Amino acid sequence: MKAVYFLQHGDLSQVKYGDLPKPEINSTELLIQTKYAALNHLDLFVLRGWPSLQLKLPHIMGSDGSGIVKEVGSNVVNIKKGDRIVINPGIGCGYCSYCLAGQQSLCNNFSIKGEHQDGTFAEFFTIPAQNALIIPEHIGFKEAAAASLTFLTAWRMLVSKAKIKPDDFVLIQGASGGVSIAAIQIAKLFGAKVIATTSSAEKVEKTKKLGADYVINYRETPNYVKKIYKEITNRHGIDIAVDSVGKATFSNSIKLLCKGGKLVTCGATTGPKTDIDIRYLFWKQISLIGSTMSNHQEFTSVMHLLFEKKLIPQIDSIYSLEHAKEAEHHMETGNHFGKIVVQI
Ligand SMILES: [Zn+2]
Repeated sequence: MKAVYFLQHGDLSQVKYGDLPKPEINSTELLIQTKYAALNHLDLFVLRGWPSLQLKLPHIMGSDGSGIVKEVGSNVVNIKKGDRIVINPGIGCGYCSYCLAGQQSLCNNFSIKGEHQDGTFAEFFTIPAQNALIIPEHIGFKEAAAASLTFLTAWRMLVSKAKIKPDDFVLIQGASGGVSIAAIQIAKLFGAKVIATTSSAEKVEKTKKLGADYVINYRETPNYVKKIYKEITNRHGIDIAVDSVGKATFSNSIKLLCKGGKLVTCGATTGPKTDIDIRYLFWKQISLIGSTMSNHQEFTSVMHLLFEKKLIPQIDSIYSLEHAKEAEHHMETGNHFGKIVVQI
């Protein structure tokens, strides 16, 4: 089968397009003929690698995917051959105390499709049947693949972890990323007041169209902390800051939180280490909340809102599998707004 993979860690020059063996399923898995996959920054982190990441090479890239079930493991009961499905890329072991409590993303052996195991940038991929969700007929494969990882991540952050409420001031740092776009839509669905930061006039316009109430071009507004605190929140501060930008924005996000405010993060795009003024933490009684992917219930909840078109994935561009490397380059430059998808 055709696949996009790498044989050693490094930059995009390591990414190959070529033939690899079609994968085989075990009794609890499905074989999927891929229709669409979607890019995530995770692809580039995995490509570069880190010391504890030991992958079996070649490694097929890609975490999001949708397609048609071609083979069904002998113990699978919830899915049948021919079903149209989208995947939850977060895979729990199914047996540890976290998995048994329904908290798969806390699993002691948690893995992500495309990170710890082969991904979706291929004509076929395998997935545990419990990670597959049937797509209704009126929803396209493209929209389904574009939605899952970012929306399930944003849902867990805002709804399960930060317990978003109507009228909360929600700050979303770096609004053009996939998780941020999902977070803006989810926050608006809950009736929150959304303040988003982004990096260009064009992205400001696109972010406003998504429904953000206030959008700040941080390159043109160096004192945006003051503007948000005094002008926008009328000295209340932010109830929830969604910050996966990391080093570049973290201290400003913490500064902006109101008394009892919460900062929730699922990543650190600009760097993982930053100084925190501990006085803000105790005096304002702030909560710092980490979040990764989601459990199956959160995945199902948010996908049903997408199926009902209450949430809509934003698609930036579509590439063929053969040109997935160019797609990754497009993401690396940061000029995209929304999801870059790969048609297979
Ligand atoms: Zn587990």
